[in-house]
Amino acid sequence: MNLEKLKTILGERVKKNEPMAHHTTFKIGGPADLFCDAKTTEELVRFILSARKLDVPAFILGGGSNILVGDGGIRGLVVKNSTEKIVIAGVKGAYKSGVQAGTVFVQADSGVEMNKLVRFTIEEGLAGLEAQLGLPGTVGGAMYMNSKWTHPVGYVGDCVYQATIITVKNEVKVVSQSYFNFGYDQSSLQTNGDIVLSVVFRLKQGNKKELWNVANQSMVYRHETQPQGIKSPGCTFRNVSKADALRVPTPNQTTSAGYLVDHAGLKGLSHGDAQISPVHANFIINRAKANASDVVYLIEQARKKVKEQFGVTLTEEIVRVGEF
Ligand SMILES: Cc1cc2nc3c(=O)[nH]c(=O)nc-3n(C[C@H](O)[C@H](O)[C@H](O)COP(=O)(O)OP(=O)(O)OC[C@H]3O[C@@H](n4cnc5c(N)ncnc54)[C@H](O)[C@@H]3O)c2cc1C
Repeated sequence: MNLEKLKTILGERVKKNEPMAHHTTFKIGGPADLFCDAKTTEELVRFILSARKLDVPAFILGGGSNILVGDGGIRGLVVKNSTEKIVIAGVKGAYKSGVQAGTVFVQADSGVEMNKLVRFTIEEGLAGLEAQLGLPGTVGGAMYMNSKWTHPVGYVGDCVYQATIITVKNEVKVVSQSYFNFGYDQSSLQTNGDIVLSVVFRLKQGNKKELWNVANQSMVYRHETQPQGIKSPGCTFRNVSKADALRVPTPNQTTSAGYLVDHAGLKGLSHGDAQISPVHANFIINRAKANASDVVYLIEQARKKVKEQFGVTLTEEIVRVGEF
């Protein structure tokens, strides 16, 4: 690999052998060969293209809140996306009976933290993303997983109008919402290798006070149901299909993967410093200095026991990256 050449081209901002544990909410992960931080979209594109020109693999890191990095680390270049611009890109619509009732288009760089974007939109009196308050990570990471909130159900992809991407063929294109094939925990980004540079969200004008109420209710529910102040990448497994929930059957046909892990008797199970959370069985937590291998052991145990007991195959929501 042309790592030394790439390091020379990218200059002083590049770090060598950077521990990924410093950049994930799990606080787990071996070193990235090379690591740099992109502060603008122009830099993001330049770093990606420079790596590609030299055949060095480049991984785009958002908030690191949905990944498990292997103990062997990541080969090639990791680009931390710290782009941060948010602008109102346009307005459509009119005043109805003295009340604003239009559509507002907000453009955010893909490195913008979702929480910053949600707060911005609420403060501007714009409805659509308010229930996502508390979602860790960046706009790009939320696009990749079509991140969601369940009370009430709403996906980040629902509000997407269009986005600017760079493809694996190095084309920079503007594409519309349908391009992403959004579904539950699903987007085309998971298979085609596109990188999102910025996103335009389509939002409705709303009442700021009511929007804060919804956002605060989300936060209350989050605090009541999820473990707090822990090192974790959120939910380990995707929820199961309605068909599986009916077949098991689960109470009220819940599709919760956490319910199955819990009822397979695994809540609180630990291996090394990794533990299936005693609060929420779909969270694995790093109690101190867990390795990726400890986490993989718990994932395999959960998958095996749930399959034995319920005949359901769990699939991971967290994204495994690098060498294990
Ligand atoms: C405490 C906690 C609570 C959580 N709650 C929720 C929740 O309520 N709902 C939910 O859906 N998730 C939740 N998550 C999971 C996680 O926060 C989301 O999946 C989040 O959207 C990930 O964003 P990120 O920027 O951290 O992505 P990262 O973890 O950095 O990356 C995840 C994947 O996205 C890719 N990616 C990142 N940026 C881009 C880009 N610009 N273009 C293309 N690909 C990109 C990465 O390459 C990687 O493959 C939670 C996690 C934690 C730790």
